[in-house]
Amino acid sequence: MADHLARTLAAEAGVRGLAAVTTELVEEARRRHGTFPTATAALGRALTAALLLGGLAKDGARVSLEFSGDGPLGSILVDATPDGDVRGYVSRPRTDLPPRAGKLDVGGALGRGLLCVLRIPPGEAVPYRGIVPLVSGEIASDVASYLVDSEQTPSVVGIGVFVNPDGSVGAAGGYLLQTLPDADACIIDRLERNVSASEPPTELVRRGLGAGDILGTLLAGFPARVLEERVVRFRCRCNRARVEAAVVAMGRAEMQDLLTTERRTELVCEFCGERYLLDEAELRALLDAAGATPGERS
Ligand code: ZN
Repeated sequence: MADHLARTLAAEAGVRGLAAVTTELVEEARRRHGTFPTATAALGRALTAALLLGGLAKDGARVSLEFSGDGPLGSILVDATPDGDVRGYVSRPRTDLPPRAGKLDVGGALGRGLLCVLRIPPGEAVPYRGIVPLVSGEIASDVASYLVDSEQTPSVVGIGVFVNPDGSVGAAGGYLLQTLPDADACIIDRLERNVSASEPPTELVRRGLGAGDILGTLLAGFPARVLEERVVRFRCRCNRARVEAAVVAMGRAEMQDLLTTERRTELVCEFCGERYLLDEAELRALLDAAGATPGERS
């Protein structure tokens, strides 16, 4: 089943929900960044969280999440659009800790620190920024705490990544359930009871449930309808033109230096691991296009 995200609304109960199946895109992130199991789980959970938060945003907006901790993993940076594009990386992809209570120790890898959420409205207007301390470093509970503390929206969040014994991603997905502003206070309790009675997200995904089915399970007893389903994917915004612009931004002296010493340069996109090689001819063309001042041309 291709990765996808579903949105639902139980208007009468005052509940909305999103769920996502993200197995393929988390596996793609693992391959691109060469992450080890604990880092794979951390990055996969964060990518899924960004898609869920992005699913609440307006078209043309972006959501970015930065988890920075004092643990061996360092930080995680992910961003997503409401269209379902997500990208991201961890600062130390080869982080792998012994399991804790039979689970990948994402909280131990991240440690104590902060979650910073940036909501960037369409047209790159002034972003809304919210910062909360990490509750556990396990990602889902940190995102729930952000939504409650910073956006004053009672929310239940569950996210999981199952890593196969060979290190590849076996299943990934998650959900986000929220009460609407005028909802009955006991609704969130009912949601939490539903969630604790249900299997964890990775089990639901491994059983072959789609995002709409996951919402149906979690919202059992609520008259909800699925509003839409959309495809989600790992997709970066980097391209050759941006890389060339970055090289030009280094300045003529730096470019000239690169030409005389290395004669070529390779730039790697942090977000997706894509490598861009610029050879001597390309560097020279960029230098020429950058415009020479009189007397500077050699
Ligand atoms: Zn990229």
